[in-house]
Amino acid sequence: MVYKNLIGGDWVGSDRFRRNVNPSDLDEVIGEYAQATAADTDAAIASAHAASDGWAVASPQAKFDALDFVGTELLARADELGNLLAREEGKILIEAVAEVRRAGQIFKFFAGESVRTGGEQLASIREGVDVEVTREALGVVGLITPWNFPIAIPAWKTAAALAHGNCVVLKPADSVPASAWALAEIISRSPMPRGAFNLAMGRGRVVGQRLVEDARVAGISFTGSTPTGRLLRTTATERGAKLQLEMGGKNPLVVLDDANLDVAIECAVNGAFFSTGQRCTASSRLIVQKGIYSRFVAALAKRVSNLRVGHALDPEVQIGPVTDEDQLRQNLEYIKIGQDEGARLACGGDLVDRPTRGFFLQPALFVDADNAMRIAREEIFGPVACVIPADDFEHALALANDTPFGLSAGICTTSLSYARSFKRRALAGMVMVNLPTAGVDYHVPFGGRKQSSFGPREQGSHARDFFTIVKTSYIG
Ligand code: ADP
Repeated sequence: MVYKNLIGGDWVGSDRFRRNVNPSDLDEVIGEYAQATAADTDAAIASAHAASDGWAVASPQAKFDALDFVGTELLARADELGNLLAREEGKILIEAVAEVRRAGQIFKFFAGESVRTGGEQLASIREGVDVEVTREALGVVGLITPWNFPIAIPAWKTAAALAHGNCVVLKPADSVPASAWALAEIISRSPMPRGAFNLAMGRGRVVGQRLVEDARVAGISFTGSTPTGRLLRTTATERGAKLQLEMGGKNPLVVLDDANLDVAIECAVNGAFFSTGQRCTASSRLIVQKGIYSRFVAALAKRVSNLRVGHALDPEVQIGPVTDEDQLRQNLEYIKIGQDEGARLACGGDLVDRPTRGFFLQPALFVDADNAMRIAREEIFGPVACVIPADDFEHALALANDTPFGLSAGICTTSLSYARSFKRRALAGMVMVNLPTAGVDYHVPFGGRKQSSFGPREQGSHARDFFTIVKTSYIG
């Protein structure tokens, strides 16, 4: 079966399609997905544009009902859609089911946001005049999403956009269209006008670029790699589109001498390697004070070498496959770079055979690394982490902040004063104390600093800063 694009409420095919293959079992084809052409993308933008005036002023209850419908169905079908997600992306089943549930919770949250409208009424400085400050939808928004959260990221952009009265063209990552298609199919049956939501699957250079260039698209919300984000930024800002970018990370987890060792090990294993390390909030730099260093490294290496890698649907497996061949090649290249740079590979880094053909890589842990090494500076986006020694708290903090990125930063310590100081001084959008750097809530802002992010935050009530525009009205 070829899964089609959703344009103006109709399912539209294409001459081109892409085969979606399971990274845990390369012999399993999940489906064939239509690749939108430039003309299809134009049609999707036109549909969203035609629907935008109506949806912007649709009642809060109408928006609530549509989003709540989607949230309810996502929650009810979490096991089934989680299985699909695990098969297309490669994260293990419990993580995949949790991701679908998260998508459902997000739609429920934004259903509520659509009725929590507000504004301010103020006295003018002129007598007999009232002033109102309100928020309005941007119009058409283009949502461009990556492969590592195939349903949660499309959900948190789409739900926020629709709740605030925008019409959407969603372009999911080419390699994981099935979850986004399933989301689109649910939305297509929700009580929402035709064209308010459109799905355009296909290539970044075709569909994504068209969205970024088209003057009818008032806002672009993108999550993906730093180089692609930079490229979009130039085009979008030149034509005056509103822009929200979530890009790379090289997140530090600091472990101080006074940390609870068990807590620190769990934070490191979860943050660095769960979801196969394929999270922008992954702890890829473990910065460890010298008094606890050797105990931490010995315990972590033992734990990491025992992680069970394999098919994402196998309940015994803790780490699924790398998502595709390109990512695997990149991971292996960085493992070689780390060794050439003189870091010591304490465990992992080799390909492992399993009954099915898949991209199975034993998680790689480098120790005795230096923060200047490429493995400590560049985002690898896989099950590869490095441990960097630090002299004391100030040194660890300086190393944590010495990076071009600034998404998430964590510290493991039992000292309140170090925890407070780190919370204030870490140059990151999100700070975690005695918790993994990855794993966030949906009702609070998500985003980073420096090269990690650009524009207003995503998620929670703060999502309105991107998805609405302020209007000041004077009433005489
Ligand atoms: P990742 O590989 O981590 O998903 P990418 O930045 O390559 O990161 O891709 C993120 C999203 O951006 C994907 O949906 C991709 O198709 C899209 N994309 C890639 N190139 C472009 C481009 N030139 N213009 C717009 N979107 C693009």
